[in-house]
Amino acid sequence: MGTINFSDLKKNAEAAFTTAAEAANKNKAFAKDEREWQPSVDKVGNGFAITRPLPAPPGEDVPFVKYHKHAFKGPNGKWFIEYCPTDLGLPCPTCEYNGVLWATEDKAKRAIVSKQKRNLIYAGNHLILADKPSPENEGQVKIFNYGEKIHGKFKSVMAPEVEGMRKFNPFDFYNGANFQLVVRMIEVTENGQKRTYRNYDNSSFDACAPLFDGDDAKLEALWNKEHKLQPLIDPKLWKGYDELKKRLHFVLEIATVIQVQVPANVMTPQDEDSSNPNFSQREDVVNHDDNDDDKNLFQALANED
Ligand SMILES: [Zn+2]
Repeated sequence: MGTINFSDLKKNAEAAFTTAAEAANKNKAFAKDEREWQPSVDKVGNGFAITRPLPAPPGEDVPFVKYHKHAFKGPNGKWFIEYCPTDLGLPCPTCEYNGVLWATEDKAKRAIVSKQKRNLIYAGNHLILADKPSPENEGQVKIFNYGEKIHGKFKSVMAPEVEGMRKFNPFDFYNGANFQLVVRMIEVTENGQKRTYRNYDNSSFDACAPLFDGDDAKLEALWNKEHKLQPLIDPKLWKGYDELKKRLHFVLEIATVIQVQVPANVMTPQDEDSSNPNFSQREDVVNHDDNDDDKNLFQALANED
């Protein structure tokens, strides 16, 4: 039979509270996912950062992973943010529904398809070298999520389209290069309506040079700080068809089950280039029950040119 010393109990309670509070903070940090990074932009929407793309993390083969997600807001503000099962070679209720809407050839319905289309996302480790508005990020290894346009910049140096252009592996510690990321908000007028979209055309690579002057000890330490990427595409993250359909109906507030009959030859614009300004406008993000980071990312992707 132990005797309970009240002061010990009190002390333990305080310790327990501290532990719980720390855990809560950690959970909060995890929910916000501090591993992830996006370039800061000013009020106008312009931004500048320098990153060093990094090789695949220890135990993995590829320096980036890619997947598709749908992210859009329903008519009454509910969000649909879900992995697209087409990545797994499985049917996707959202893509199917988009196909039906697209086949109507109705302009308004096609505009909805644009909003609901799947977004291609790349995720890779980057060392943040310059991020003036958020200097706390400098020197940190972050997962940078980006779309096809920025990926195109990496692809263009890995496999240049024109003979004689500089060819290198941007993800290489020794022969890679720092990436100057330039974000510009471009405004265009279309059908009498002003639209804005993000443009990355001015982004470029510095001269190829070894990171940390090729100091192996520093590079190894950095490599060990890289975040695992494969867990981002763990098939467990993809929900099943029925669950997605239920969520889709909930978000779109469709009372009856949609009987989807997609004609075999219907083309959906899901892979349409996001440079089309029609595909680039997205409403401002407001508070809802889903993950804000996701929304910010998708807003950035949706606004990509
Ligand atoms: Zn889909």
